[in-house]
Amino acid sequence: MSDTVRVRFAPSPTGRLHIGGARTAIYNWAFARRHGGALVLRIDDTDPERSTEENTRAILSSLKWLGIDWDEGPEVDGGCGPYFQTQRTATYTAALTRLQEAGAVYPCFCSPEALAVKREAARTAGGFSGYDRTCCDLDAPTIAARTAAGKSHAWRLRVPDGRGDIVFTDAVRGESVFRADAMDDFVVARSDGSPTYNFATVVDDGEMEITHVIRGDDHLSNTPRQILVFEALGMAVPTFAHLSMIWGPDGKRLSKRHGAASVEDYRDLGYLPEALVNYLALLGWSLDDKTTMIDRDSLVANFSLERVSLNPAVFDAEKLDWMNGMYLRELSPGEFADRMAPHLVDAGLLSAEEVAEKQAWLLELAPLLAERVKRLDEVVPMVAFLFADSVTIDEDARVKVLEKEGAAAALDATHEALGALADFSPTAIEAALRSVPESTGIKAKIVFQSVRVAVTGSTVSLPLFESLSLLGKDRSLERIQAARSSLGD
Ligand code: GLU
Repeated sequence: MSDTVRVRFAPSPTGRLHIGGARTAIYNWAFARRHGGALVLRIDDTDPERSTEENTRAILSSLKWLGIDWDEGPEVDGGCGPYFQTQRTATYTAALTRLQEAGAVYPCFCSPEALAVKREAARTAGGFSGYDRTCCDLDAPTIAARTAAGKSHAWRLRVPDGRGDIVFTDAVRGESVFRADAMDDFVVARSDGSPTYNFATVVDDGEMEITHVIRGDDHLSNTPRQILVFEALGMAVPTFAHLSMIWGPDGKRLSKRHGAASVEDYRDLGYLPEALVNYLALLGWSLDDKTTMIDRDSLVANFSLERVSLNPAVFDAEKLDWMNGMYLRELSPGEFADRMAPHLVDAGLLSAEEVAEKQAWLLELAPLLAERVKRLDEVVPMVAFLFADSVTIDEDARVKVLEKEGAAAALDATHEALGALADFSPTAIEAALRSVPESTGIKAKIVFQSVRVAVTGSTVSLPLFESLSLLGKDRSLERIQAARSSLGD
């Protein structure tokens, strides 16, 4: 393919960027990059009630977070702007004028109420329920008189008589046929002059010289109408590629009901953007029958619409977790610390300044966690004991460990052994703790478990020697002392 590929991602800012939209964006991006083409980001903000600037900002930041960069769009002028549909009114008006001059559209004075009654009657009779062309052939004086009388009208596209079936080759779904006789003269501009989705989209795709429209198959039924608008405007019809929906495990379209749905939700849960991109890339596209890990470069080098699946993809949260864990383990300690830090700040465990001051400490902590978590939000409960002033000992741990015979003596002995250390490194701590069973005769398991519960509050925690070292000598001794005092003599 030549380097003239131009694709667009055209979200409506009526909500956050959800997982399905993100996948569409990723496919458009990968396709553009694969062919050395351009990705246009267009904001379809024509719904004034539901579109918000906040949603637009969230969509842009979600795309940036995913690493999806666009060549033209908000913040990046590429010469086809503006890239917000609400700022393109003049373009739509000019296109409508062209259609009016060509006689490709006509004014329709039918009221929504009258149309609804007719539609219902046609439906009951089991016939064609589209527009019955009442206003199709009004003569100029009638139009002028009604307009002069203040009657409002919409503009409908005249589906050419004898147009025949609308056939196109979808790059994913193959040949798609829509019967022309089922197609009515649809509205392209409402009575207030605003363009409908099918009109604005085509004007923009045409003006922006989009070569491939890659989008969800919820728009498949719009495509024949859009083709008619392209034809009426005398613009080249792009190649369409409709992506199958993403389903939840219950076989219903993925939505908020299934839990986290927006890219921001996934970010906050501690997924890495590279894992999410990898997962979504393979949710409906495959490199071959076996590859599960694919980085951005390989995705770009290999992406093709031919390998996009026709079947709906089922979202599998466990697989995403597994994949995220794989990516987490590939990070260097420094990278892991950087990715983890915002979660610690959000949880109120550290301030942004402390993150900078405690870099060395965070670098020691990172490898302990990387092995143990699949998502970064799991880090917070695991490390909370390191930040608290004191720990609350889990009741179960108290009964099962601290109240057992030998625990009090073990705490006394470990307090002494650790108190004597000048170097509080994990190796030195290990040696000191291992000497306790030898010198006291208390079982090693009781020694280690007692210290673990005293210091972390729980029987399950990060590795003991490292935890003590990270906590520091003074605080470790304080906690051992506090646990010991709580046991009495
Ligand atoms: N704004 C539309 C949507 O978010 C875009 C549809 C299209 O890609 O044509 O569904």
